Amino acid sequence: MGHHRIICPQCRREFSGYALSCECSSLLKTEYTNSLELRSLPGLWKFLDWLPCQNPLDTKVGSVTFRSIGLGKELGLANLFISFSGYWPERGAFNLTGSFKDLEASPTVARAQEAGIEALTIASAGNTARAFAHVANNTGFEVYLIVPKSYLHMLWTPEIPSEHIHLLTVDGDYCETIEMAAEFCQLNGITPEGGAKNVARRDGMGTVMLEAAYTMKRLPDHYFQAIGSGTGAISCWEMANRLRSHNWKGNPVLHLSQNFPFIPIYRAWEAGRRQILPDDLQNARECIEGIHAVVLSNRNPPYSPTGGLYDALSTTKGKVYSVTNSDARKAGRLFEALEGIDILPAAEVAIASLLQAVESEYVNSTDHILL
Ligand SMILES: [Zn+2]
Repeated sequence: MGHHRIICPQCRREFSGYALSCECSSLLKTEYTNSLELRSLPGLWKFLDWLPCQNPLDTKVGSVTFRSIGLGKELGLANLFISFSGYWPERGAFNLTGSFKDLEASPTVARAQEAGIEALTIASAGNTARAFAHVANNTGFEVYLIVPKSYLHMLWTPEIPSEHIHLLTVDGDYCETIEMAAEFCQLNGITPEGGAKNVARRDGMGTVMLEAAYTMKRLPDHYFQAIGSGTGAISCWEMANRLRSHNWKGNPVLHLSQNFPFIPIYRAWEAGRRQILPDDLQNARECIEGIHAVVLSNRNPPYSPTGGLYDALSTTKGKVYSVTNSDARKAGRLFEALEGIDILPAAEVAIASLLQAVESEYVNSTDHILL
C-alpha cells in the first residue's frame, strides 16, 4: 500500500486530506514511508507506492523513455534518452490529450476522490483543462474549467464531452483567468485544484523521472525541460531526491528553458536572485503574445518558495536558457526529421536548449541525458 505523509518542509507540520499549503508558504511535500515496489498496473500506476492516492483510476496514462538514435547521433551524444508524454501507441504512450498534463490530472482526481472531494476548479491555458476534462469524462468526477476565451481552440477532448465538464471562459489573459478562478472557488465553495501546490500533481509528473530511471537503470546526469511554471522540473527534482534517498546514485543537473521574449525565470536566475522582480515581467502581455510555446507563459511561477524552482536549480547547479521562436521551430523540425514524430512547441524549446548546451559544452558526449 502507498503510505504517505504530507508535510511542510520548513516547519515540519503534517497535513491530511487535500491540503495545498502551509502558513510558511513553502511547497508541501509528500513523504513516502515505504520503498517503491513496481505494481503490475498500466502506465504511471505501476508507481502507485509513490503516488499520494491508494486507488488507481482506469487510465493508461504515463510516460515512456527510450534511447534516442537519430538526435543522439546527430549531436554526438551516446546516452541521450527521450521521455515522451504524448500519444504514440507504437511506443506504448497513451496520453490521449497529447501532453504530460495527463500525468498530473489522473493522480489529482484520485487524491481528491479519496479525500471526499466531489469537484475541482481548474484554471488553465489549455493543456491542463484538456487533461482534466478527459479524466472527468472517464470517471464522472466534476470539473469546473476556467479558460481564457482566446485559448478555447486548445480545449478539445478525445471523446464526446460529458455533463461532468463545466466550462467557464474569461475575457482576459491566463493571469486574469487564475484570479477569476480563485474568486469562483470562494464564491461557490468549490475546491481549487492547486497547481504546483498540489502534491498529487507533482508526484504524478515526477513519474517521468521514475520511468526514466527504471529504463536507464540509473539517474540521468542531466534533465532538460522547457518551463512555464516549472512544476514539472520541481517534480522531477523531488522524485530524483526520493530515489537518491533509496540508494540510487547521481544528482541530475536541471537545464530549464524559457521561450524568448517571455523569460522571467531566466532573468532572475541569471542575476542570481531568489525573487522574480517586476522588471523581469516588463511588458509581460506583449511578451506572452510573442512566444511560440504559449503554454510557457506563467507570470507567477513557484520560483522563490522553499522547495521551489530556485532551490531545485541551486542544489543541482542547474542552468536556465532563453530560446528564440526560430531556434525552437528549427529544433522541432530537426527532431521530427531524426526521430520520426512531431512534438508540441514547448518540447521544441527544450530541444533547442539541448542544442545550446551541446554548443556550450555543458554536457559531455557520454553523459546520461534525459530530454
Ligand atoms: Zn510550514
